[in-house]
Amino acid sequence: MKELIPIGLFQKGQVKYFRRDFIKNIFLSLLGLFSIGGVSMSLMKNENKKFKKIKFSYKVNDKHWVGDGFYVHGLLRPSDELNKFISPFILMDYASPKEFSKTTQRRGVGEHPHRGFETVTLAYQGEIEHRDSSGGGGVITAGGVQWMTAGSGVVHDEFHSGQFSSTGGIFEMVQLWVNLPKKDKMTKPKYQGLSDGDIPKVKIAQSSSLRVIAGEFDGVKGPSSTFTPINMYDLTSESGDKINLKLQDGSNTILLIMSGQVELLGQTYDEQNVVIFEREGEELELVISKNFKGLILNGEPIDEPMVAHGPFVMNTKQEIIEAINDFQAGKMGRL
Ligand code: MN
Repeated sequence: MKELIPIGLFQKGQVKYFRRDFIKNIFLSLLGLFSIGGVSMSLMKNENKKFKKIKFSYKVNDKHWVGDGFYVHGLLRPSDELNKFISPFILMDYASPKEFSKTTQRRGVGEHPHRGFETVTLAYQGEIEHRDSSGGGGVITAGGVQWMTAGSGVVHDEFHSGQFSSTGGIFEMVQLWVNLPKKDKMTKPKYQGLSDGDIPKVKIAQSSSLRVIAGEFDGVKGPSSTFTPINMYDLTSESGDKINLKLQDGSNTILLIMSGQVELLGQTYDEQNVVIFEREGEELELVISKNFKGLILNGEPIDEPMVAHGPFVMNTKQEIIEAINDFQAGKMGRL
């Protein structure tokens, strides 16, 4: 873990760094995998070949503030160890449920830039208001998703909505950073605002349902357009089910457990666990508990050099320097 780069929302005093307990948790989970692996590997060899095995699993118990609106677990950060298994995903922050009192102030993160990737914000409870310098903006309501392509560069802000602030309540969201391949890094900025009703919900097994945010599940296509092949699903269950998901061999897969628990290859994982799978294999078997809520991210890896620095994710250091210069020269616009 030597090459860790500070990252986070670009605001003075708000940039957060890799947490020591995060590193410790990865280390402990690796130890666990090795010791279990030695015993069970011979039993599982053939029949589990098609299943994606688990590469890392960990929890990040610490939370930190992003601006004054988002109190998050920093669950994914770019690192030499993780990139190969999380690409095209770069970063994941989870604002687990938290109560906010009503206020007339704007809580959130002020004007800051991005270039070279996409930010995807999923609102589960509460609302987020957003504006960007390409003219995009709006309110992400509960169940909604905002898929913003920063591409060549935008400046934006992210706040609790005026409506939510006026009443207060429970706030819960996820923000993802999704990489763009080299050929699309400087694409024109784009904004996709999806409400809960735009996202197809597929009933599966006995009492589970799967929202197809991006990609495809069982012939049902998600509404988000992506630059590289991505499947993004919300999975919920009322009474518990056994669920098999078919995924591409060679693709990367991440599971965030938001509530409940799940058994994967005989191991149990629970609330706020992040599970990162091996590329090999084409199936996940999840035995989920009642009241399970999880987010499944799957995508074709972008195997290109990546340099992430603050709010910019490019292929080379030189391109990072250009991004900083272009932002300072006002080339990413203003709000
Ligand atoms: Mn941002």
